[in-house]
Amino acid sequence: MFLRKITAVLLAVLICAGGTSCSQIGGFFSESSSEPESSVEESSEPEPEPETIQFPEGYSPDLTSWELTLVNSTHKLPDDFEIELSDVTVDANTGMRVDSRIIEQVNAMLADCRSYGCPLYITSSYRSLSFQQGLFNYNVEQLVAAGMTETEALEETRRNIATPGTSDHNLGLAIDVVTGDWYMYHDDLNESFEETPAFAWLSEHAWEYGFILRYPKDKQSITKINYEPWHYRYVGVENAKVIKDLGICLEEFWDIAEGKPVYVQTEEDKKPFSNLGGESSQAESEGSESAEPESAA
Ligand SMILES: [Zn+2]
Repeated sequence: MFLRKITAVLLAVLICAGGTSCSQIGGFFSESSSEPESSVEESSEPEPEPETIQFPEGYSPDLTSWELTLVNSTHKLPDDFEIELSDVTVDANTGMRVDSRIIEQVNAMLADCRSYGCPLYITSSYRSLSFQQGLFNYNVEQLVAAGMTETEALEETRRNIATPGTSDHNLGLAIDVVTGDWYMYHDDLNESFEETPAFAWLSEHAWEYGFILRYPKDKQSITKINYEPWHYRYVGVENAKVIKDLGICLEEFWDIAEGKPVYVQTEEDKKPFSNLGGESSQAESEGSESAEPESAA
């Protein structure tokens, strides 16, 4: 059982691996629905303007704030990144650490969810670059030992484990949480966590502590990361509320803040890994895994 749990934790560590940048899926909104050449004046119905998402009046986020740091496969941690860590003290048996600046919010969220009747269990929090590098290297070694060439092993590993410095967890601002009783009956993290009262509570209240669901189900084509109902990222209370209210992900948030158009998603956009245009083999691979709940963990 212990070994089984270790395996589960390792799997959990492998999951929330990386990510890539916003693909501006709205940019794929077709303007090429060709009209008959001779009927320009007759069929003068104007093409509907694609609806863009805007920030609330008067809201202007500071993208240089540490709270809003974007980390994914195209936005790496700076080489001089430093972090001061604190141990999570609520449900301290997990022995997890986060950026000291968010420790009060983490403890408060865990305590309040426990009071609600759903004590949370942290399966992953801060990961050092060396730890992530170790995971990466170990996987390469295993694949080479199994007969792959070095190049093949590297390519295969990148599909499953984020390169160190590209994981949201390297920031110390993300935690993976489930409930102990749910975890007891699941060997890995999977989407069924979304059916729990704890997930419902987090969906309603996480923003009050400054957290967002980092990899939503309907944003997989943008985050390029499988839906992870257990992964919460700190961005600050005000920013979290805007992100929740607008129904956007962090990549979209950055685009809006930088003045780029972000379009309301179509149903097609919401499908996992649609409209990728072959941008990233890593994303494609992670997308294929999402079809299998077991391996998606
Ligand atoms: Zn995670």
